[in-house]
Amino acid sequence: MNKAYIISTGTELMLGTTVDTNSVYLSRKLSDLGIKVVGKSIVGDSAEYIRLAFQTGFQSADLVIASGGLGPTLDDLTKDAACQVLDVPMELVEEEVQRLKDFFSRWGRTMPESNLRQAMFPPGAVILKNPRGTAPGMYLRQGDKTVVLLPGPPREMTHMYENEVEPLLRRDFGSDAGRVANRTIKVLGLGESRVDEILAEVLDDPQGCSLALLARDGEIHIKITAEGKDGADSLRILDEICQQIMERLGDYVFACDEDTLESIVANLLAAQGSMLAVAESCTGGLLAKTLTDIPGSSQYFWGSVTCYSNQAKERILGVSPATLEQYGAVSPQTAAEMARGIMTVSGADYGIAITGIAGPDGGTESKPVGLVYIALQDGQQCQIKEMHFVGGRDGTRILATKTALDLLRRRITGGKAG
Ligand code: ATP
Ligand code: MG
Repeated sequence: MNKAYIISTGTELMLGTTVDTNSVYLSRKLSDLGIKVVGKSIVGDSAEYIRLAFQTGFQSADLVIASGGLGPTLDDLTKDAACQVLDVPMELVEEEVQRLKDFFSRWGRTMPESNLRQAMFPPGAVILKNPRGTAPGMYLRQGDKTVVLLPGPPREMTHMYENEVEPLLRRDFGSDAGRVANRTIKVLGLGESRVDEILAEVLDDPQGCSLALLARDGEIHIKITAEGKDGADSLRILDEICQQIMERLGDYVFACDEDTLESIVANLLAAQGSMLAVAESCTGGLLAKTLTDIPGSSQYFWGSVTCYSNQAKERILGVSPATLEQYGAVSPQTAAEMARGIMTVSGADYGIAITGIAGPDGGTESKPVGLVYIALQDGQQCQIKEMHFVGGRDGTRILATKTALDLLRRRITGGKAG
């Protein structure tokens, strides 16, 4: 597997005023290409430390990608440092001088001498266009080493990576891109340690496979990378291992790769030609937002009513005052009446209701913060789930939204209610 090293430069990254998102983006992109990122450095605008980072980079990998420090000012040092470490000279590229002069004259300004540094490149370098800024990037192969220099501003960097760099990486590091196969399996409703245990059973002997677990907002993503003799062999290994993992995880698996919980539910509803209507209390519209983030959702999403007060629950959803009085707003009885109410109001095929205590206040001993009832009503039955979430107000809302979507996913696919 080809290896890469990433360098982010900029004093603002050292001061904590800017978060290094560039290397995160590049890590993801490189891993999609089957290039293994073996290390990263984040350094300030110092020639010494940037050189040191390039030295480390080339000791660990054949490909080093750096972002930042390509501008015209004196603190822009990346290109000089890279060329020094690779021991290659730079020369003025006439075409680039002309391009810079044109750029300045278009704005009625003359080019400061210092800008000429941006037109200096080593012989053989591919100069990468930057339509979103002034600093061009660079792609250079020198012996068995390759260096890629990208501008720091993320919107310039990502544009240049996608349009200029990725095709070159595919060309030069392409054998691995086709040889390695990846898949991400997404799980909801199981703890990380349980998933870990299950994977350990499958991967007793993880031949040609590597695994990474990512847990976020209640979801666990299992990224599996298989490396065989060639593309077909990798895919065969990947399919085999994924099948074993999926068998063990059963219907806790809700999606693979780019699919999300909401996109899966959306597809299921659309395929059935069904409509969903939602009554939300503690999630305050988050379920509706999540569903309507997908373009074209009116095809299967009737809408949502945010019924926060008891009065709204009574007047809009027809929840009986006696129920609210006797059991309270956060109760299975109220959740069920809310779900029935939204079905009646909308005439939809499925009604989901969410009522709970998101906190930080309002919890009691019998009804603590994080207690949420989710009701799913269809033409035949009403299913109610009681959940106890941790993770604060935001966490509770996000997990309640996901659990509601998952309940519907399981109902439609006929899975058991996990
Ligand atoms: P410029 O011509 O703007 O000077 P440059 O290539 O020299 O371009 P930098 O000066 O290093 O780029 O960075 C410009 C801005 O881009 C920084 O102020 C910062 O806001 C953003 N930036 C730089 N590096 C990163 C990074 N690794 N992650 C996120 N943002 C970054
Ligand atoms: Mg700069």
